[in-house]
Amino acid sequence: MGHLDGNVLAGPIGDLLSFEPTTARGECAGCGDVAALAQAAVYGHPMGYVVRCRSCDDVLMVVVERGGRTMLRMPGLRRLEGADPV
Ligand SMILES: [Zn+2]
Repeated sequence: MGHLDGNVLAGPIGDLLSFEPTTARGECAGCGDVAALAQAAVYGHPMGYVVRCRSCDDVLMVVVERGGRTMLRMPGLRRLEGADPV
């Protein structure tokens, strides 16, 4: 079976990223807690933000803004899903 190129991801990933981020729900890889990002504990940092699990305090995400770009690492998220359409 042949593979597709990354352009096929434009629809599903574009849909995910077009949601209001605070309503997106994530699952912590450390403890399995599922919650909206708005419920996470966020710590400001000179370079950006560290997002920690509300339940176990593991690092879910790191958001860095530099040079006009935003970089996102998700070391502790098992999955991230957009909210249901209104
Ligand atoms: Zn957790």
